[in-house]
Amino acid sequence: MRIAFLGLGAIGTPMAVHVAKQHQLTVWNRTGTRATAFAAAHACAVAATPREAAAGAEVIITCLPTSSDVESLLDGPDGLLAGLGQGALFLDCTSGDPDTTRRIGERLAPLGIEFADAPVSGGTNGAEAGTLTVMVGGTEETFRRARPILDCFGRRVEHMGPLGAGHAMKAVNNALLAVNVLAVGEGLAALVKSGISARKAVEVLNASSGRSFVSEYLVPQRVLTRLWPLTFRLALLDKDARIATGVLEGQGVSGPVLHLTSDLLAQARAALGEDADYLEPIRLIEQEAGVKLHE
Ligand code: NDP
Repeated sequence: MRIAFLGLGAIGTPMAVHVAKQHQLTVWNRTGTRATAFAAAHACAVAATPREAAAGAEVIITCLPTSSDVESLLDGPDGLLAGLGQGALFLDCTSGDPDTTRRIGERLAPLGIEFADAPVSGGTNGAEAGTLTVMVGGTEETFRRARPILDCFGRRVEHMGPLGAGHAMKAVNNALLAVNVLAVGEGLAALVKSGISARKAVEVLNASSGRSFVSEYLVPQRVLTRLWPLTFRLALLDKDARIATGVLEGQGVSGPVLHLTSDLLAQARAALGEDADYLEPIRLIEQEAGVKLHE
């Protein structure tokens, strides 16, 4: 199948690698050198513009920071709409927002272009392994058409509901991840200050009922080791938490915990900058407490 992939960032790149193994792929990236390097490494074509990527593609996949970024690629002489043909399938793997996605869907439907939100979870490791969870919003028919393509990089590919439902699911998931990052950091800081080693506290936590993905994997592998790899920007998690509070508000759920989490992430983003990793708010907790969570 002829597929175009737009957005070769931290997670888009390993996802596109899996697509390239099974399909005839064309890539486009805002910074063209990344697309050229990808194409050379994975024997696929490079498009100079979104229009060129979309022209002739049966399926296009986007993986950009926000839904607004996706929307901004639609228009203009070099935009996606100038290239997309009737009958094309447009899968947006951005962790985006439901409202913008529904607006994009309303523009695409009269043009005969099927659209689905298909955000992913599982991190860059999951993308490399092809074991992502994919949360799809769209019609049943669009889901059936999309599934074999999403299977290229997904292990669990689920239809969540109508357009926007995938983004709502993903945003709430990431807001819960954010709650855990902050809460585990705070709890461990207090335990270390009270004389318990960070390693022992994490081990006992992970044999007890307060454990989580953050305590079982992220803290032992990335914080206690002091490696702090950059895999997912804090700015993106902050964006997700804000989308989640919007989802809650839209449903009349006051959600004080998720609102506070979102506020704390926004403060951490302001302090740490746009290129900080999403675990780095734990550094701020360490600084404030005057401790380090190390082996
Ligand atoms: P990155 O910041 O690593 O990459 C962003 C990509 O989008 C780059 O290719 C960048 O191009 C491109 N881009 C940014 N702004 C624009 C724009 N205005 N127009 C066109 N292209 C643009 O992000 P990730 O790959 O980490 O994340 C992408 C999406 O996936 C986000 O929604 C994120 O929340 C989600 N996600 C990320 C995960 C992760 O572990 N990293 C996990 C799950 C979901 P350029 O090269 O020019 O900068």
